[in-house]
Amino acid sequence: MTADRKRVADHRRIVIKIGSALLVDRQTGLKATWLEAICADIADLRAKGIDVLIVSSGAIAMGRTVLDLPGGALRLEESQAAAAVGQIALARAWSESLSRSGIVAGQILLTLGDTEERRRYLNARATINQLLKIGAVPIINENDTVATSEIRYGDNDRLAARVATMTGADLLILLSDIDGLYTAPPHLDPDARFLEVIPTITPEVEDMAGGAASELSRGGMRTKIDAGKIATGAGCAMIIASGKTDHPLRAIEQGARSSWFAPSGNPVTARKTWIAGQLQPAGELLIDEGAEKALSTGKSLLPAGVRRIAGHFHRGDTVAITSTDGREIARGLASYDAEEARQIAGRKSGEIEAILGYAGRAAMVHRDDMVMTRFLHHAAERDDRKESASHG
Ligand code: GLU
Repeated sequence: MTADRKRVADHRRIVIKIGSALLVDRQTGLKATWLEAICADIADLRAKGIDVLIVSSGAIAMGRTVLDLPGGALRLEESQAAAAVGQIALARAWSESLSRSGIVAGQILLTLGDTEERRRYLNARATINQLLKIGAVPIINENDTVATSEIRYGDNDRLAARVATMTGADLLILLSDIDGLYTAPPHLDPDARFLEVIPTITPEVEDMAGGAASELSRGGMRTKIDAGKIATGAGCAMIIASGKTDHPLRAIEQGARSSWFAPSGNPVTARKTWIAGQLQPAGELLIDEGAEKALSTGKSLLPAGVRRIAGHFHRGDTVAITSTDGREIARGLASYDAEEARQIAGRKSGEIEAILGYAGRAAMVHRDDMVMTRFLHHAAERDDRKESASHG
């Protein structure tokens, strides 16, 4: 372990991905004792004030057992049906086990589009954040009943990494029957060395991941490394560890073997960098001095402080926020379409429902979706001027 590796309990928000083989036995079905034990681990983390999100595989495996389907590959409609049957059982098992530790569970089923299309992404993120806010543990899986081979993740490793980046988690833990990354597939190469720390996912590291996957889960080391690229790139550390013992989270904390992938930034900067880096804002919100002051102290932009709206943008698009003198001071993701934004500009957040006919978000641009650009832009302009002066 290096000095940089923090204890699990020193993180704020942890996404834990649980592989099918840990939860479901092909003969006997749900591994209830194991589930009970990990729920106790989760309760320990929750008691320390840490947000926990679970990405649970096992719907198809569970459905297979319940329906007594033969081994081997399933056709698409068979796996969709198996997932439909299995997901109910899986969600119920999580909900019951967590409730014994006094925790409320909320089920979220995602499709690829929910994480890749910006508007749907914002919507899914808002729901997950709300669950966390009320102290519930989200139990997330891919919506396998409607996912087709062209439009699906297929493996929960990458889905879990997307969930981690989506929610600004600072740790992703992949629990499966694999205890970590080796320099070569250990069952094929006797010289394979275990790697405890992976500072960066280099092409060499990618080559170390063979394509192997167990019968019940789709993800092998390949998808785990892909997940690592997604997570660490957004400032989220990743741990690959075996979940085969009871209390696997406690085991990691007590030094059980695991591979740690270092994060490459910090979660807030990663998202804000993305917002600031949008090439062409789709619209512009001109705000008053009161709002400008509020923004400079880290507050959200409320409709009341917006004077004028320019451009045709949709909810989730990047908009420039300009002050009365016409200078851009911030950028952020709009919570409303341009038309709606025009209707509620200058009005109190409490009036939104009466005006639009539904209870929308209180903020026009939420502070989590906003980055102050004034200083950045000024610095850039100065540099431009210097450039042209020295060339002129
Ligand atoms: N979503 C699939 C399921 O619940 C599992 C995918 C995976 O194993 O990564 O059955």
